[in-house]
Amino acid sequence: MGNFEISREQLSPSDQLLRELIRFDTTVDESPEKPAIDYIRTLLEKEGIETKTFFRTEERPNLMATIKSENAQLPPLLMYGHIDVVPVEGQKWSQEPFGAAVSDGYIWGRGALDMKGELAMFITTMIQIKRDKISLPFDLKLLVVSDEEGTGNWGMAYLVKEHPEIFKGIKYALGEIGGFSMRLSGKKLYPVMIAEKQFAHLKIAATGEGGHGSFAHSNTAMERLCKAVEKLSSQSLPVRITPSARLMIEAIAAALGGAEAIALKLLLKPSLTDKIIGLAGKQLGIFKPILHNNINVTMIEGGSAVNVIPSRVSCHCDVRLVPGCTMEDAIKDIESIIGSSYEIEVVEYDKGSETLDMTLTDELFAALCRKDSEAVPVPLVVTGVTDGRFLSILGIQTYGFTPMDLPADLEFTSLIHAADERIPVGAVDFGKEIIIDFICNGYAKALQQCK
Ligand SMILES: [Zn+2]
Repeated sequence: MGNFEISREQLSPSDQLLRELIRFDTTVDESPEKPAIDYIRTLLEKEGIETKTFFRTEERPNLMATIKSENAQLPPLLMYGHIDVVPVEGQKWSQEPFGAAVSDGYIWGRGALDMKGELAMFITTMIQIKRDKISLPFDLKLLVVSDEEGTGNWGMAYLVKEHPEIFKGIKYALGEIGGFSMRLSGKKLYPVMIAEKQFAHLKIAATGEGGHGSFAHSNTAMERLCKAVEKLSSQSLPVRITPSARLMIEAIAAALGGAEAIALKLLLKPSLTDKIIGLAGKQLGIFKPILHNNINVTMIEGGSAVNVIPSRVSCHCDVRLVPGCTMEDAIKDIESIIGSSYEIEVVEYDKGSETLDMTLTDELFAALCRKDSEAVPVPLVVTGVTDGRFLSILGIQTYGFTPMDLPADLEFTSLIHAADERIPVGAVDFGKEIIIDFICNGYAKALQQCK
């Protein structure tokens, strides 16, 4: 793309709003989210939209905005997003990260893609629905939270635990990670997140006889732990094919057709999954995490003095469970590699949804296709976690749906949390139009069809 500049006057109100949001430094755990949340609150209230804040500490508030229906017959629809961003420390940016520069057809800055651009879509959606006095048979809600990039304990985790009443009646929500275009074998796919993996922190301990460092010992706790670490680091956990992974892979296979479709479908045969990934290498390797639980040993602890053989040593592991997998089954997977003679402690486990509700996907996909005739929407299983995991505790199904038409050479996933994060000028309006179309023409239809 050529080097062209767009003056501020040429930018749409949505893009101007995004620039304002980027200029608030909301680096998680460093800069309070309050000024940005206050700004959004004022903006919405000026339009006559009802808002309320909820917080554990005043500096890190969460904002719920509601457009009430006059004849509500259906569950409220929730749009939600986080205002905090990850740090820029140590990254080399070609534009000022909080400057919101407009250059080369992009708006540059931390949060442009994760997820102030998407928040700008949701905020301008609310404003347009309100201004146009669109009458909907359901309440429309927007929740802007703090602390997603941290623990969620000041944001969504706090709200779900301390204020479940604000989610009353909600079954479906639109959130981040999904709806961005990506080119694959000449097709323009729009992956829409339907499920995410679950995070767990496990501690695996080995025990053995302790003693003096001057004697010869065998089968010590240290030796046993090292053997387990070696196995966990070099072997994959067993294949687990979940309904969400099946939907994603079958949809991509159908979109691509030909030899690629054949290879993709073979991934779904558990006896062949690892062989196919091994043969195809990087190309199909991206599917590996959605077809397995995975474990990474990230910390080791044990031993107190150089001349004492410890009787207990342990390692901490980052474990990611495929959607719907139980902790019991994940531990079985781990024991299938290291045996059952280790103590496994679940230090932390963010249990995700056990079920998959696809009620809205057809209509979300339809809204995308109405806007972009080239679009091939496909379900997406995300390997990381979002605030959706907390909402799933309340039985709310999140769809990652913030549509963006990205240039072929711009990869969404490689720019988030990275230097030079940027979003094309106009992307916010593209998404906003699709979301409004879905709200006005898709949501009620999807719910009525599933009755
Ligand atoms: Zn995010």
